[in-house]
Amino acid sequence: MTKKPMVWMDGVLMEQEKAVVPLMTHALHYGSGIFEGIRIYDTPKGKAVFRLTEHMARFLDSGKVLCMNIPYTVPQLCEAVKDVVRATVPEADYIRPIAYYGANAQGKITLNPAVFPLHVAIACATMGTYLGVESMENGCRVATSSWKKPSHESTSLTAKICGNYVNSILAKLESNQRGVEEALMLNQNGTVAEGPGENIYIVRKGKIITPPISAGILEGITKDSILTIAKDLGIEVVEREITRSEIFICDEFFFSGTAAELTPVRSLDERTIGTGKPGPITKMLQKAFFEAARGQNPKYDSWLSYINK
Ligand code: PMP
Repeated sequence: MTKKPMVWMDGVLMEQEKAVVPLMTHALHYGSGIFEGIRIYDTPKGKAVFRLTEHMARFLDSGKVLCMNIPYTVPQLCEAVKDVVRATVPEADYIRPIAYYGANAQGKITLNPAVFPLHVAIACATMGTYLGVESMENGCRVATSSWKKPSHESTSLTAKICGNYVNSILAKLESNQRGVEEALMLNQNGTVAEGPGENIYIVRKGKIITPPISAGILEGITKDSILTIAKDLGIEVVEREITRSEIFICDEFFFSGTAAELTPVRSLDERTIGTGKPGPITKMLQKAFFEAARGQNPKYDSWLSYINK
């Protein structure tokens, strides 16, 4: 019999098709959930989860912003993730933990989440190459979105709150309509923030430049990995605001994220970036990133949680 997708829901492993959510779930109506996205890689020592502890720590931090009392510790959540990965289909390469306000037993409708039960679940998915193999190898095409990122005064951008992602969805729809692979989002100051689900970097004169947290971005865990690798390779990194027009004249441009991994960008708003091919720094970092994630560089072994240990 073929294996069925399994999920972990409120402490119990079950078949995904049985993990159904009631219609009056608060998070369905108002986006009152928080989530993570985590990758599973095949390594010489079997399957490993990339930077699991950091993702589950950010999960609890996101919950704190929405005043969720998530009744699990980081180590307990990490064990639950490993249990799901072991139990589920072997082709799964992505993990989706979510905590959300559910349905009120009295059928109450109110914005106040405090009167709704909190649920925590962990599912897996098969994602493959998020922006496509062609984008990963030759670079993707990007268009600046007309939708701006909200400011730090409008929402918490350091928390992965479900409702925040409507902004990303609008940008994604727009880029799809324009026939390109991804969007670039500006912030309320008009400088560059990030992609709908990716951090961004440019390379100018051999230096990596990337926007700081104050530019309205998520504190990416892939970004932390890439910047660590860049520093280890002796590449200078500058964190400062970037303008859209500076991207037009940069030498290299790339995205990072759990889904996008390290994807080069070959054009922005129909202007070719650099030579139109992934540049040397992008290629060097992409190679080093995949070696780290796939357990091929012992230096970064502490980033991997092996599931058969
Ligand atoms: N920005 C946004 C808005 C995101 O949703 C993501 C994906 N989590 C990222 C950046 C990249 O973060 P990470 O590398 O932690 O996946």
